[in-house]
Amino acid sequence: MKSHKELAEEILGYPIGEDGCAPCPGAALHTTQSGPRDWRIWFDGEGKPHEYCFHQSCQSARDDFMRVLYRAISAEERGARSTRKATPKYQRPLPPAPKARKVKAEELNEDLALALAGRVEEEITFDWLRDHSPVEIPGNPRAWGELLLNELYPAGARILVFTAFASQGQYMYIVKDGVYKLGRKPGVEPVKAPRLPAGGDAGVWYLTAPVTGKWEPNPGKRDAMGNLMPGRRHAACCTSFPFLVLESDVLTADVWLKILVQLADPVVAVYTSGGKSVHALVKISAATPEEFNAIKSEYVLRLSAVGADAAAMTPVRLSRLPGCMRHGATGENGTYFKYDQPRLQELLYLNPGAVHGVPILTMPARQPRKAARS
Ligand SMILES: [Zn+2]
Repeated sequence: MKSHKELAEEILGYPIGEDGCAPCPGAALHTTQSGPRDWRIWFDGEGKPHEYCFHQSCQSARDDFMRVLYRAISAEERGARSTRKATPKYQRPLPPAPKARKVKAEELNEDLALALAGRVEEEITFDWLRDHSPVEIPGNPRAWGELLLNELYPAGARILVFTAFASQGQYMYIVKDGVYKLGRKPGVEPVKAPRLPAGGDAGVWYLTAPVTGKWEPNPGKRDAMGNLMPGRRHAACCTSFPFLVLESDVLTADVWLKILVQLADPVVAVYTSGGKSVHALVKISAATPEEFNAIKSEYVLRLSAVGADAAAMTPVRLSRLPGCMRHGATGENGTYFKYDQPRLQELLYLNPGAVHGVPILTMPARQPRKAARS
């Protein structure tokens, strides 16, 4: 009698490694590069097969494979294996991966952007936004970061916070629980911290997609030996992709704000970078990176010509955490310089209940009118 592993190898048409790794039976459906350790199969105490792949796009082919394997195992156990050798479904050439429609960002059409902005007569200032914010923006900036995260994410959501942009994150904020300082490597226990970081050399960011908090092999990053490197901020670590960031690096803030306030999209928050840019967070509620990218195409088509930065619309996105100080910036030549005065990443608008079809411009001013902020 053949072992279950031998049956699986027969069906696959190639051997399975000692560690259970083998090329994924759905590799043709992968939307990112395939690696030799992406897919694993293992057999539990009862000899039942289980499998896992880092990619999700191959699920249907893997399901087909498992169906055929289960059938072969039960046939083998009944001792009634058919002599007729049918080509299993997944050994036939697989259809190519469905290609997401590649949408090209358009060049800025400045006349169009100015005409669109010109439809708003009022000047849209930071104070105007705070006055029309459905959630009142507290006077103390130290409260803004937690307020934003508590309003936009459900209790228990795990949000990574960064004081270094190109890192795996320094803090974890668990909504309705608190802040944790994270270890730099897998295996280091997080330690409860009193509060979110006050600032950073180039500012403070949060990952807009909530994460599991676990280190996972990153299919996009390999060491010299070809092994997947662990990470806790890549797409496989994210549990959902709820928000898309709209920013413009080609329009002045006053023009960009006049465009933002007219959008029918559900803008849940508006804040500054601590530099010149104003960023808007739009609720899109995508479950997967594929869904995010499909929705993003619509935004690129509609808004790139009027100044929105298509490169900022990515499923795994670090965005400025309001209420934190930014002490400097990296210049165009790549060297860091410190500001004379630290700059605040300002929270301007917060509307967790934003719905499609109700632009910011139509929000009533809150009463009584607050005294102007300095
Ligand atoms: Zn796969």
